[in-house]
Amino acid sequence: AKPDGPGTYVYFDAAMNRRVARSLLIHNELHRALENGDLQLFYQPQVRISTGEVVGFEALLRWQHATMGWISPAEFIPVAEQSGIIVQIGEWVMHTAARQAAQWLARGHRNFRIAVNISVRQFVGQDLPQLVDTVLKETGLPPHMLELEVTESLALHSVATTLAILHDCKSLGVKLAMDDFGTGYSSLSYLKRYPLDALKIDQAFVRNIPQDQGDMAITRAIVAMAHSFGMSVIAEGVETIAQLEFLRALGCEDVQGYLFSKPVPADQAATAFAGFATY
Ligand code: C2E
Ligand code: CA
Ligand code: CA
Ligand code: CA
Repeated sequence: AKPDGPGTYVYFDAAMNRRVARSLLIHNELHRALENGDLQLFYQPQVRISTGEVVGFEALLRWQHATMGWISPAEFIPVAEQSGIIVQIGEWVMHTAARQAAQWLARGHRNFRIAVNISVRQFVGQDLPQLVDTVLKETGLPPHMLELEVTESLALHSVATTLAILHDCKSLGVKLAMDDFGTGYSSLSYLKRYPLDALKIDQAFVRNIPQDQGDMAITRAIVAMAHSFGMSVIAEGVETIAQLEFLRALGCEDVQGYLFSKPVPADQAATAFAGFATY
């Protein structure tokens, strides 16, 4: 497109208006979706590199709208965070995911965790430890089977408040993972202060392995750092055997990605309990 000229403004204006209009529509429809039960959870297996066993599942929101079709969480989560409805959605997600995990447990599956994404808004807009406690009691899920994935944007809030909430969650027995590690408002100092069990390497770093030396150096550094703090590492967005082999050589424990499975509905996800070949 032409970088300047009077027409350009009109174009961007119209595009911006369309974006605002769509956000508004999504905002309105999201409330309805939550009430009508139109939100779903898909589950993506997390695989232990050394054995090929499934050690967990990440719960990921899916939304199929009657007329707008599938709307990506990458699009509607930011809208939900803006409006605050992410708090109610987050409650639904935790209840639903924990109920699913409890059902798998009741069917005899063992040694897996269910990972749930926690929005930074859930740290200020609600009593997160209270929610966790309620969900654990309601479902009977053993606490160590629930993992909360938090992001580095937590660092935007008061460290004292954040720490207190994380410690309250930990004392309930759940696991904590730092999601998208290395992409955010990174402050290495919180690594030693936050009671984290695991670091998740963002797919942005995994994507260009084994071509990009810089991304490989970052990945190597993250694994080493996590291990020196006694944390385990899970890499997301693993799509190729070359990526898997690189991560295996670094001692990365677990992986998640299309190489093994996309996020799928619960009944399909359950077939993953049979395990995977790790090549
Ligand atoms: P995320 O937490 O970083 O989730 C990983 C994303 O990577 C997911 O996108 C997943 O489908 C995708 N992915 C997994 N493996 C691969 C792979 O091998 N290759 C590629 N290219 N992509 C892969 P998804 O499901 O579209 O979710 C996008 C984001 O939306 C999530 O990023 C998370 O930030 C947010 N989100 C999803 N569900 C929830 C939720 O229940 N609560 C909150 N607060 N956020 C959620
Ligand atoms: Ca995540
Ligand atoms: Ca992630
Ligand atoms: Ca991500």
